[in-house]
Amino acid sequence: MNRREFVSATLGAALLAGGGRVAAQAERYDLVIKGGRVIDPSLRLDALRDIGIAAGRIAAVEPTIGGAATATLDARGKLVVPGLIDIHTHAARNAEGPALCLRDGVTAWIDAGSAGADNLDPVVAIAKAAPQTGRVLVNIGRGGILPDGDAKDLSLADAGAARAAIERHRDWVVGIKARLSETVVGKNDVEVLRRTQQVVEPLGLPVMIHMGQSASSLRELLPILKTGDIVTHMFAPPPNAIVDDAGRLLPEVLAARRRGIVFDVGNGVRDHIRWDIVEQVMRQGFWPDTFSTDWNVMSRTTGVVDFPNCMSKLFGYGMSVPEAIACATVNAARAFEVFRDRGTLNVGAPADVAVLELREGEFDFLDNYQNTIKGSQRLFPSETVLAGVRVPRASA
Ligand SMILES: [Zn+2]
Repeated sequence: MNRREFVSATLGAALLAGGGRVAAQAERYDLVIKGGRVIDPSLRLDALRDIGIAAGRIAAVEPTIGGAATATLDARGKLVVPGLIDIHTHAARNAEGPALCLRDGVTAWIDAGSAGADNLDPVVAIAKAAPQTGRVLVNIGRGGILPDGDAKDLSLADAGAARAAIERHRDWVVGIKARLSETVVGKNDVEVLRRTQQVVEPLGLPVMIHMGQSASSLRELLPILKTGDIVTHMFAPPPNAIVDDAGRLLPEVLAARRRGIVFDVGNGVRDHIRWDIVEQVMRQGFWPDTFSTDWNVMSRTTGVVDFPNCMSKLFGYGMSVPEAIACATVNAARAFEVFRDRGTLNVGAPADVAVLELREGEFDFLDNYQNTIKGSQRLFPSETVLAGVRVPRASA
């Protein structure tokens, strides 16, 4: 092409691009989230952007969106991130749970083993009624979480009953949970985990194990996990932590990650996280794949507080804000097939958005042993947008 043709081709392309932009500006959005720092690790995006939402989906992510919108949300000075996905909660234990954590920015959650085969139906009913996407892991113990232990009595680890329960709620139960602490299953941990795998083997669903203080070592337990299974409470202190007595990561733990096993925080309130273990693990570069809270309706009064608080706990160990957001969005979305189109602000994705405040100051972060660390930054929930609709703010 000669110079004249080149100029005219370039002009044409520019006009086309300009025309496209004009058309986009004339478009009407249901909601525009304006002026926030958009952090979306799925897009490797960390920049000031406007987000246009139409028909419940992300319609545009642009430096500036002009034109008419039914509503705008001023996010200046705030972080705008994909709706948070909490893969270990007990949100479905109480009818009011889902709406409460929605205000914290949690637009998708997993109830991890609150109920077993015998008491699953009410938990599934709460998931079905939830405003956001909620799914359930059935507990291998047929009575769910029991004060005397989910499966200390091995007959409670009833694979047939668990399979039937999953089949009864095939769209709502997305995996199975096995709590393997000695106080929960006694010395039965290996056998309980074997039975747990039997339940989901023909269904191709993941297992989540609750590790820490088990009778058996992770050297014995991790080989029973398959790719895509999840280890929650990864910072649990001994006996049977992911580190040995000298604080070194077990080779089996590194091998498990190489096999595609997901390591999750599972903050909780008892026995799950201690700062000296966090320090050892983080220093060796074995960072979590996902954050999760182990949340329930009482969490505001404990060291959990809310999901953004839990996401702030590793800043002092070198984790950046975008890395923490990845753990609560795109990484969590990969853990469960049902979340495959979540955890992103990509155009076309469901418009689930969390607006967070990143405050500077001096903040206390609790482990499960009444030890406090100080941090200089903390994420706070601010606004939640679910399927393109702004969620009313909490009055409390
Ligand atoms: Zn839990």
